[in-house]
Amino acid sequence: MTELLKKFKVVTTRKPHFCGFCEREFPKGSDMGSHVYVDSDGIHSIYTCETCQEIIEKYYPDGDEISIIKICEQDGLKTPEELLEKFDKAFESERILLDEFQKKQEHE
Ligand SMILES: [Zn+2]
Repeated sequence: MTELLKKFKVVTTRKPHFCGFCEREFPKGSDMGSHVYVDSDGIHSIYTCETCQEIIEKYYPDGDEISIIKICEQDGLKTPEELLEKFDKAFESERILLDEFQKKQEHE
């Protein structure tokens, strides 16, 4: 798939939209990420909810084609919010380990 153009912005929706990553429907007036891209098949646009957008930005910067709903299912989680919390916790404990490791090294 050749991606020719990509556009992203956060919009306040004027009608209900499904999030392209978790497949939940969000009512109009929600802040959602709007992704538009053009490839050899034509113009595509998807919306993302705030939680999925945060997960993607933080943990899957190249992940255009991931399915957050599938990752949740694999991990036995029900919502992207639980997934984000799990990622944040894992990230935090890794950061603490790294800090401790660096402190140890400074003392040696
Ligand atoms: Zn979502």
